[in-house]
Amino acid sequence: MVAEDRKAGMRAVMLGPPGSGKGTQAALIAEKVGLPAISTGDMLRQAVAEGSELGRRVKEILDSGALVDDATMAELVEQRLAAPDAAAGFLLDGYPRTLGQVETLDGILERRSEALDLVVLIEVPEEELIRRALARQRADDTEEVISNRLRVYREQTAPLIDHYREQGVLKVVDGHQSIDDVQADIHSLFTVQA
Ligand code: AMP
Repeated sequence: MVAEDRKAGMRAVMLGPPGSGKGTQAALIAEKVGLPAISTGDMLRQAVAEGSELGRRVKEILDSGALVDDATMAELVEQRLAAPDAAAGFLLDGYPRTLGQVETLDGILERRSEALDLVVLIEVPEEELIRRALARQRADDTEEVISNRLRVYREQTAPLIDHYREQGVLKVVDGHQSIDDVQADIHSLFTVQA
């Protein structure tokens, strides 16, 4: 199989702690390889900005750094993945984030007779994450919210790493490099021959 074939139909997930550059890297690679980038954080922030029923319901949760409940996220992601642009591959950014969400995604893919091809983990040491978070601190990002986000990641999302490693789809990228170098490493994962 040639490299072009592989990335065209890829179903991938981008995983990484808050401050790892996950969102930036996901948007860059999706554009480069022609996959729709599906960021659940962006979708939720847009709902908040629009003041929709969903937005009003999740605003406080987003502000606190906690996670929106799995059932709400399942509905959001199932709908988004049903859009035509996600039929031939996608890159999920920020989903799944809990083992429950992993099950939901597995179920959605199973019904489509699909499976995940790749989970990219951007790895950054926690001291570096804290340093970055404080450097880019916004008015609404108190230290408490920052440490809450990191704790939520450690407790609820980090267990996904072992799960996907066991499934054989996990690839780890060193996030303690320049944006360009991280992007080059990620790009090589999307173009390796199957
Ligand atoms: P992000 O931009 O990915 O860091 O997401 C921003 C915020 O949106 C998170 O802190 C959560 O409150 C919420 N969020 C995004 N994705 C999810 C998800 N998969 N499950 C639960 N909450 C999420």
